[in-house]
Amino acid sequence: GKLPDLELVRDIVNQAYERFADDRTGAVADYIPALARVSPDLFGISVVGVGGSDVGVGDCDHMFSIQSISKPFVFALVCEAVGAEGARARIGVNATGLPFNSVMGIELNADRTMNPMVNAGAIATTSCVPGKTAEEKFRFIQEGLSRFAGRQLEVDEEVYTSEAATNLRNRGIAKLLEGYDRMYWDALEATDIYTRQCSLNVTAKDLAVMGATLAGGGVNPITHERVIDTRNCRRVLAALATAGLYEQSGDWLFEVGLPGKSGVSGGIITIAPGKGAVSVFSPRLDEAGNSIKGQLISKYLSERLGLNLFASQ
Ligand code: GLN
Repeated sequence: GKLPDLELVRDIVNQAYERFADDRTGAVADYIPALARVSPDLFGISVVGVGGSDVGVGDCDHMFSIQSISKPFVFALVCEAVGAEGARARIGVNATGLPFNSVMGIELNADRTMNPMVNAGAIATTSCVPGKTAEEKFRFIQEGLSRFAGRQLEVDEEVYTSEAATNLRNRGIAKLLEGYDRMYWDALEATDIYTRQCSLNVTAKDLAVMGATLAGGGVNPITHERVIDTRNCRRVLAALATAGLYEQSGDWLFEVGLPGKSGVSGGIITIAPGKGAVSVFSPRLDEAGNSIKGQLISKYLSERLGLNLFASQ
């Protein structure tokens, strides 16, 4: 199957926007000072098909830092670089059932691996990126994520500086992993590269293109460039399904029936393999740090566009 016809997708996306536009529940993230200053009522939806069809409504061209939505894409690049099995051996792919910044997730797991979609596993993932210096590693990430987006992505220096000054918990997580031989580069440098990767600016449209690249087996639907191998795509999507929404990943899969990834700046992407991707930007978050409107819209669109992976027809 494919996405419904473009006109129908447009109608359904507009209906989704109208239906949830007035929802004012939740609050913007404030543990990163620069994110606390974002306007809470920004709201955009973008849908991109694997064939390049593209529907957007609202603030879908507004730039915001990618935050945790960088995680699946960096994991994808590491799977390309060291092989999916190599990535699993180093990082782990099991569900954590715990918050994104959990330390207990490391402590409770006998082999001290994590999941690439939570901070500990994501910093470990970043530590596996090819490159002889931190600068080279960051360049590799920036260029790789830009290939997913089909345009050059740049760092939001204000967000980077703000998070770099306050990310003691992430540095602690990286040091803890280092003690367990689960860091594959200097722990503090890896945390810094990870913080920069989280500060890359994207729009909801960029995220939908990035997601549609994973939905399409690794080929960017706009530039037609192959970004990653088809076989690695399905591994990345499986890892996403286990922990993309942290401790709410089970609820998410139950309701939406698709792999998804959230970030604390308010983005959510949902990937429908073989079909395309939905992305939502709305910075009001719930307790787990997931966009509230993002979840409502993702659920609504999964149903109305017929995307649920577990549906028999
Ligand atoms: N950069 C953020 C952090 O490490 C990303 C977290 C998120 O988006 N959930 O805390």
